[in-house]
Amino acid sequence: MSFETLGLAEPLVRAVSELGYTQPTPIQLQAIPAVLAGGDLLAGAQTGTGKTAGFVLPILHRLATSPAPQKTASGRWPVRVLVLTPTRELAAQVEESVRDYGKHLKFNSMTVFGGVNINPQIRQLQGRVDILVATPGRLLDHVGQRTVDLSHVEVLVLDEADRMLDMGFIHDIKKVLALLPRKRQNLLFSATFSDEIRTLADRLLNNPAMIEVARRNAPTELVEQRVILVDKSRKRELLSRMIKDHNWFQVLVFTRTKHGANRLAEQLVRDGITALPIHGNKSQAARTRALAQFKDSSLQVLVATDIAARGLDIEELPHVVNFELPNVPEDYVHRIGRTGRAGCTGEAVSLVCVDELKFLADIDRLLKRPIPRQTMPGFEPDPTIRAVAIPMGRQSRGQQYDDGLGAALAPRGGHPQRRPSSGQVSRPGGDARGRSSQGRGGQGRASTGRARP
Ligand code: AMP
Repeated sequence: MSFETLGLAEPLVRAVSELGYTQPTPIQLQAIPAVLAGGDLLAGAQTGTGKTAGFVLPILHRLATSPAPQKTASGRWPVRVLVLTPTRELAAQVEESVRDYGKHLKFNSMTVFGGVNINPQIRQLQGRVDILVATPGRLLDHVGQRTVDLSHVEVLVLDEADRMLDMGFIHDIKKVLALLPRKRQNLLFSATFSDEIRTLADRLLNNPAMIEVARRNAPTELVEQRVILVDKSRKRELLSRMIKDHNWFQVLVFTRTKHGANRLAEQLVRDGITALPIHGNKSQAARTRALAQFKDSSLQVLVATDIAARGLDIEELPHVVNFELPNVPEDYVHRIGRTGRAGCTGEAVSLVCVDELKFLADIDRLLKRPIPRQTMPGFEPDPTIRAVAIPMGRQSRGQQYDDGLGAALAPRGGHPQRRPSSGQVSRPGGDARGRSSQGRGGQGRASTGRARP
């Protein structure tokens, strides 16, 4: 099946072929006909699956094949499509896709997000904007100043709706919904389907088509994954060594906290590696600059937290390094989704210390297979080091797996043999030294006590 046979207009087919897309991805095969049909859509798809083209292409087709818009009674051009995203980076990337895919059509698009001066946005909104890609907070600022009119929106897209809810945008979303005309097409994209997402979908969508593509954690065959067991205090030295020895470029390194990202980037620079942190405390200008340098390979390493990295679309990214494992296993999948995308292979290396073995076990469980473990000559972990719980706000994890790295290196297949050390308390039904009373039975987010870096 080609883009042409999906029924897309010639200028769109030409644009994607110029971008080198030869055939639609699975999400595109399902989403494009559904959106072209004009109904609502509930789609389960993560970044990296080609979901953006899955909604942008059919939306552009619909705009291109419907009557040309007229100025509204207030003398303005109507905003016809509104895409809401959780982050500025994702907004910028979606809008870039709109421009790429729509380059042979005459539609105007723009982004609206916070962290930058509002005045240029106000000026641009006075002109013709067909497609507006926005983060909820800044959009509402414009609504408050009456610099945007959403009353003629024909299509609403909520992109990465789960992240928007995670980030506390539900009230802002509700406010935006109240400003839209009742008759419109609604598309909701989400990587996960929590009860909250279902409630939102029930409220928002009218008899939606439902599609879901395999989560990227199921077929991660494009990403070569490995775990290197190493002591925490030697991770930075090992990382620098690996980057230098293999002359790695475009390395996206994840830390759990903003502070950790700053510190690691500084240390890498001291080791002679060009590195910058990217996270929510950085100005938009600094983030955009770092990303641009990273993309053109003048910056070797970008050190990011999960939130900052969410939705970053860096094509053909060869290396992802988990300098620290995430405490939510799904975030591991999001992180490694940065690499090996749309047909390119990539490598994901996780540097894991004894404190993180419980996180690793959670990730193995989610992936339904253990990630291969190895050690590096000269960086073998010290077996006498015992796990220390990792502080994570409401909940700490780590100490319950104090068998040491020896057990982690042992052949897997069963549960590692527990060897209670002296003074260790047996823990039927709860562990006073680490495990929260909430337990960790399921993989559900609600029970994970997610820490927001
Ligand atoms: P997304 O999931 O929308 O973030 O897209 C992930 C990446 O896949 C982007 O870099 C797109 O440019 C690329 N992409 C999207 N659709 C295709 C396709 N049909 N063929 C090849 N690459 C694609």
